[in-house]
Amino acid sequence: MINIEQIKQKALEEHIPIIMDDTLEVIEKILLEEKPKRILELGTATGYSAICFSNILDNEVYIDTIELDENRANVAIENIKKLGLKQHINVIKGNAVEVLPTLNEKYDLFFIDAAKGKYPIFLKESLRLSHKGSIILADNILYKGYVMSDYNKHKQRTAVNHLREYIKMVTENENLETEILEVGDGLAVSKVLI
Ligand code: SAH
Ligand code: MG
Repeated sequence: MINIEQIKQKALEEHIPIIMDDTLEVIEKILLEEKPKRILELGTATGYSAICFSNILDNEVYIDTIELDENRANVAIENIKKLGLKQHINVIKGNAVEVLPTLNEKYDLFFIDAAKGKYPIFLKESLRLSHKGSIILADNILYKGYVMSDYNKHKQRTAVNHLREYIKMVTENENLETEILEVGDGLAVSKVLI
């Protein structure tokens, strides 16, 4: 038998950037308040965050989650199966940039947690799949402090520029109400107003 703590420890040992504890606490509050029925996650890794979300919602949820790395996706599928959550969490193998345009159902909540350089594209697609009241969460939005600093010469600057663009897009979009939280590695919380 496997439990969520083992999945977490294994991911940490393998240096997989799973959701941070304080970020999860904030998301837990949002989940309990909003009670989303359908969630779309971008970046499954080994399933840790998706399993946490399902548990928080007493499994009264259906989560689609997209993962590019074939091995990680397979581990996630195994973990989900072992925990008896197959009816609640659906792992889609592939590049979210390609998978997203093939989706057409609406989601109540989005958790963007994959390639940082693709956040603006992920936002556009999430908006297309959203409805009034949907919540769009973007993890790692402050990226170790780089996003809000002037220092612009490090090797992650392309990713940082895309994260800055994401923040600009969500704050300037009049149809969204957005908060940028300094929790964990930074979490953007946007609510779709219309
Ligand atoms: N949400 C997970 C952690 C995800 S780590 C958790 O908190 O437990 C980010 C994951 O995104 C990695 O596993 C990486 O392989 C995946 N990824 C990166 N680019 C992607 C893309 N374009 N489409 C889908 N997944 C991607
Ligand atoms: Mg993350």
